[in-house]
Amino acid sequence: MLHKNLIGGEWVEGVGVTRNINPSNTDDVVGEYAQADAAQVEAAIAEARAAFASWSATPVEARADMLDAIGNEILARKEELGRLLSREEGKPLADGIGEVVRAGRIFKFFAAECLRLAGETIPSTRPGIQVEITREPVGVVGLITPWNFPAAIPAWKMAPALAYGNTVVLKPAELCPGSAWAIVEICARNLPKGVVNLVMGKGSVVGEALASSPHLDALSFTGSVEVGRHLAEVCAKTMKKCQLEMGGKNPLVVLDDADLEVAVNCAIQGAFYQTGQRCTASSRLVVTEAIHDRFVSAMIEAMVKLVVDDALKPGTQIGPVVDQRQLDQDLMYIEIGKQEGARLACGGELLTRATPGFYLQPALFTDTTPEMRINREEIFGPVASVIRVKDYEEALAVANDTPYGLSSGICTRSLKYAQHFKRHAQAGLVMVNLPTAGVDYHVPFGGRKASSYGPREQGRYALEFYTTVKTAYVLPV
Ligand code: NAD
Repeated sequence: MLHKNLIGGEWVEGVGVTRNINPSNTDDVVGEYAQADAAQVEAAIAEARAAFASWSATPVEARADMLDAIGNEILARKEELGRLLSREEGKPLADGIGEVVRAGRIFKFFAAECLRLAGETIPSTRPGIQVEITREPVGVVGLITPWNFPAAIPAWKMAPALAYGNTVVLKPAELCPGSAWAIVEICARNLPKGVVNLVMGKGSVVGEALASSPHLDALSFTGSVEVGRHLAEVCAKTMKKCQLEMGGKNPLVVLDDADLEVAVNCAIQGAFYQTGQRCTASSRLVVTEAIHDRFVSAMIEAMVKLVVDDALKPGTQIGPVVDQRQLDQDLMYIEIGKQEGARLACGGELLTRATPGFYLQPALFTDTTPEMRINREEIFGPVASVIRVKDYEEALAVANDTPYGLSSGICTRSLKYAQHFKRHAQAGLVMVNLPTAGVDYHVPFGGRKASSYGPREQGRYALEFYTTVKTAYVLPV
């Protein structure tokens, strides 16, 4: 079956077809997905525009009920959709199901938010005048999403957009369009025509057409810094509001007084779980001198026990890399690390499993310095490096010495250092004795510096992007 694009409530073929391949078993084709072209993107925007007047005027309770129904169906189908997600992306089944549950919960959270949209009235500085501040939807919003959270990210953009009265055109990642397609199919049965539109295909064609369209009001993007920077320029040219969530090079600081077991657990989970393919992954382990050797030995002991295998196989802790291109990038950085003089203390080998897939043993470098490319550039794979530092002050400086600023973690039993780090880590997320990756769905998410641009996503803070403020002055006569 060909999975088609959704334009104005109609399922339409595209101009080409993408094969969605299972990275745990490249003989397994998850499905065929239509590729749209620029004309179909414009048609989808026009349909979203046509649906906007009525959707934005739909009573909030009706909107809440529809979003709640979407959330309920996603939750009811968590096993099936979780399996699809793990099959197309390669994260272990429990994580696939967990992500689908997150997507369902996000719809339910924003269903309730429909009923909470409030404004303000403020006394004017001038006698007799009333000042009223209200929030209105932005209009037609374009959503461009990456492959690594193929259900959660489309959900955390679509749900708030719809809750606050916008209509959307979604362009999911070409590599893993299946989960987004399934969620859109649920939306299509629960929402009026044209409120949600789906255009699949290449970023350079479909994404570019969406971002550059003069008929789109706002763009929310998650993906790499390189594409994000380009889209910031595209949006500036057409003067549209944009929100960009991009990469990370997240540090996990381990101080001498850390609980070793907690620290190793945070590092293993943060660096290697979900194959290190998380924007919040801990790729730099910044470790103080007195605990350094014990930490490295305990890491290696834990790493050799990690089960790397087919995402759907019971007991798998780490699935495959998502595709050949990403695997080549991971292997390239492992080679770069060696050439830069870092010591490959564990892993980094290609693995053979029962089915043909992109299996890589998680890799740990030691004896690294902050200037090395493996400590500056986002690898986006199961590769982490240890940077040895003297004390907390040096650890903080190294942690912040990066163009990125998404997540930052510290393992310590010292309240003093934990408090100082919380305040001075230059990141949008700070974790104390917890992995840098793994966040709640009802609170803001986002970073600083090159990691994020524009208003925060998720939780109630999502309304900053998906609404626009109006200030009205009234003289009652
Ligand atoms: P990517 O930037 O290659 O692609 C992201 C999306 O943008 C895809 O849908 C792609 O088709 C589209 N795209 C590509 N070129 C485009 C163009 N010229 N115009 C418009 N759209 C275009 O990223 P990826 O490889 O899919 O995902 C991995 C990246 O995403 C990593 O850098 C990771 O850190 C980041 N990420 C960030 C967050 C976050 O919330 N900060 C979350 C997940 C992933």
